[in-house]
Amino acid sequence: MSYEKERHMMVESQLRGRGIKDERVLGAMETVPRHLFAGPDMEDRAYDDCALPIGEGQTISQPYMVALMTELLELKGDEKVLEIGTGSGYQAAVLSLLASDVYSVERIDSLAVKAQKLLVDQMYGNVTVVISDGTVGLPEHAPYDGIIVTAGAPEVPSQYVEQLKINGRLVIPVGSRYSQVLYLIRKTLQGIERHVSTGCVFVPLIGKDGWTATEIY
Ligand code: SAH
Repeated sequence: MSYEKERHMMVESQLRGRGIKDERVLGAMETVPRHLFAGPDMEDRAYDDCALPIGEGQTISQPYMVALMTELLELKGDEKVLEIGTGSGYQAAVLSLLASDVYSVERIDSLAVKAQKLLVDQMYGNVTVVISDGTVGLPEHAPYDGIIVTAGAPEVPSQYVEQLKINGRLVIPVGSRYSQVLYLIRKTLQGIERHVSTGCVFVPLIGKDGWTATEIY
């Protein structure tokens, strides 16, 4: 089953209907087979208006949140983007259609391996999945035009801003373990501009500059 009809309805009602305007983002989400990333157990719920479990206590984000965060990056097509928190690989697949190079970091081996295989099988060839602690960014490929963090951080890890180009954008949920605020941070020659986008709930960003594993329970 290809779920084309469900995907189209998701784009029209959950995304366009709620104010997502970037046609490139809408087009990418009309194309990427979210049901393959949700996995066989969740396939029939893949286009529902919610986050879904993907194993290891992690989740694939709600479609609207994926669209909103991606739109905030304002991608035109020739950017190098860093994602922290590969999870299922769905957000990385969306980014791959909108930027020229995507690096995606995941701390849980099993999720990273599964996501990388799916991304290769589905021909998202410009995505590189790296297994490491993403709270320190990915210095070896910096600087980035955009950094998107798909796990909630207690505060903004300083390395992310350092690894952005001037005029680069960072989209990151920051707050407590159970609820966060989505920030859009732009690096300018004069310093940092910070905008609040919306309230949100993400699984925790765990690592050196994030939460410690024991703090989360
Ligand atoms: N973007 C994903 C959803 C991510 S859920 C998707 O489209 O499916 C958040 C992910 O962040 C989880 O897989 C979790 O393991 C990962 N994560 C948490 N802390 C991390 C860290 N320090 N470095 C890299 N990945 C991290």
